[in-house]
Amino acid sequence: ANAESQQELTDGFHLVIDALKLNGIETIYGVPGIPITDLGRLAQANGMRVISFRHEQNAGNAAAIAGFLTKKPGICLTVSAPGFLNGLTALAHATTNCWPMILISGSSEREVVDLMQGDYEEMDQLAIAKPLCKAAYRVLHAEDIGIGVARAIRAAVSGRPGGVYLDLPAKLFSQVLEASKGTESLVKVIDAAPAQIPGPDAVKRAIDVLKGAKKPLIILGKGAAYAQADAEVRTFVEKSGIPFLPMSMAKGLLPDNHPQSAGAARSTALLESDVVVLVGARLNWLLSHGKGKQWGPKGSKKFIQIDIEPKEMDSNIEIAAPLVGDIGSVLNELNKAIDGKWQAPPADWVKTINDKKEQNIAKMASKLGKNSSPMDFHSALGALKQVIKERPDAILVNEGANTLDLARGIIDMYKPRKRLDVGTWGVMGVGMGSAIAAAVETGLPVLAVEGDSAFGFSGMEVETICRYQLPVTIVIFNNNGIYRGIDKDPTGRDPGTTVFVPDARYDKMMEAFGGKGYYATSPDELKRMVDEAMNSKKPALINAVIDPEAGSESGNIGNLNPQSVVGKK
Ligand code: ADP
Ligand code: MG
Repeated sequence: ANAESQQELTDGFHLVIDALKLNGIETIYGVPGIPITDLGRLAQANGMRVISFRHEQNAGNAAAIAGFLTKKPGICLTVSAPGFLNGLTALAHATTNCWPMILISGSSEREVVDLMQGDYEEMDQLAIAKPLCKAAYRVLHAEDIGIGVARAIRAAVSGRPGGVYLDLPAKLFSQVLEASKGTESLVKVIDAAPAQIPGPDAVKRAIDVLKGAKKPLIILGKGAAYAQADAEVRTFVEKSGIPFLPMSMAKGLLPDNHPQSAGAARSTALLESDVVVLVGARLNWLLSHGKGKQWGPKGSKKFIQIDIEPKEMDSNIEIAAPLVGDIGSVLNELNKAIDGKWQAPPADWVKTINDKKEQNIAKMASKLGKNSSPMDFHSALGALKQVIKERPDAILVNEGANTLDLARGIIDMYKPRKRLDVGTWGVMGVGMGSAIAAAVETGLPVLAVEGDSAFGFSGMEVETICRYQLPVTIVIFNNNGIYRGIDKDPTGRDPGTTVFVPDARYDKMMEAFGGKGYYATSPDELKRMVDEAMNSKKPALINAVIDPEAGSESGNIGNLNPQSVVGKK
């Protein structure tokens, strides 16, 4: 009788799991602890993949990238107060990047928190999360879990995707309900991210502007990569014949060696174009806000912008032809409009781009081929460029300052959503979370190319990579410091503020957890070791020794780094 009555009951723990599974969510990234330890355990017992990290921020970064790769919200599960705050950084990062993610945190009891009576890990988490994400909800009754999870999913993936916070107080998990009532309370979200089709007048306006162009340019952003409208993007680019420029996480949407790629002629393309079609790319700092000397004289360009978020239009400068809708639907309309009767862009424009491109590629090639020891960024990246060329299905994770800026330009990508990097904030520390999620979500081999400083933010997750035996190869560009490894304390007391322990052996960190460590001092060695590591499909870390003198302060964005004008004292 006892067993029977148990079968007829459910509780908050099980309803959270059932609600996620009902909506096709199969993976949780998190760190266990009070009050969600049993939630993770039960989720695993119920067939979900539960990936336990060493720090919530890395779990959150994994969830964010899972959202980008799959168009389903990545789930991050944390404990209350400090764990929640650690996860919140990643939730804000996901929101900034327009990726769907749900941060689920356990929390302390409302009665005590609201009277500020000092509970274990007391914090008004809902209030703190609200300004940093797209939506925030709290569930107090087990029978509301279904609707709470449904709201969180819809908020995360519909319109412009983003981060959602779901607050689950400890008491909720053990609330018991009749099983049939529980089942009835669950909600399967129907058409979570509805197609948004642009009006015919908006399409006509855009086509008219495009027809008037003498030097058109298409800029593909990570919104286009996210949209998974790969065929529509390719059709639009190839049918129109317009040169395209990929933003960093849109690289590979069309291969970087595509004849229409203007990637290697970026400055010329931005400066000289007269009509620019933005496809899921914002005119934020990464595109100099669409103005200034990079873009040429004011008024020299017209913009057509495709974005799902109406408020994005005119955010920095006037948009001549806004196309509000999802990229698949919008491009589908444009493709119909240009079908058959489209005039390719003027040949002199195409030639200007191609000439510049060839020049720049030749200039770069001369820096890449050297088998130097110690390596500099170019010689080491030359080796890795070859690795990705031979393994176009591998996912490249990339962070650091110089390591990021130079790799973005040097390593060609061939397939969509294979390049994961620092995103809209240009933030360091996302590497290991991204690498883990990439491996878990796709099963593909991952190559993480990391500056030594960037790696430090999430380095302990090598244990996680070893524990789950993920096919992740990490290459540390070890130049002994942030930017470079040469700073000195002018007073002679301490190490300079941007340097690390010289000749640190990051490869031994990997070995501490049973992975394979390598130590590479030349590009040939680096190539051979990366190949061996990737062939093994096992966790590996290659410490690539880079000249501490190599690199520049702040990489390509030194202009954002204020320096004292009042002489050094
Ligand atoms: P990048 O940094 O690569 O330039 P951004 O993150 O600045 O890219 O821009 C991505 C844009 O794509 C955002 O403005 C977002 O609203 C938009 N977006 C995201 N998903 C879609 C979609 N499915 N359809 C249309 N626009 C989208
Ligand atoms: Mg460094």
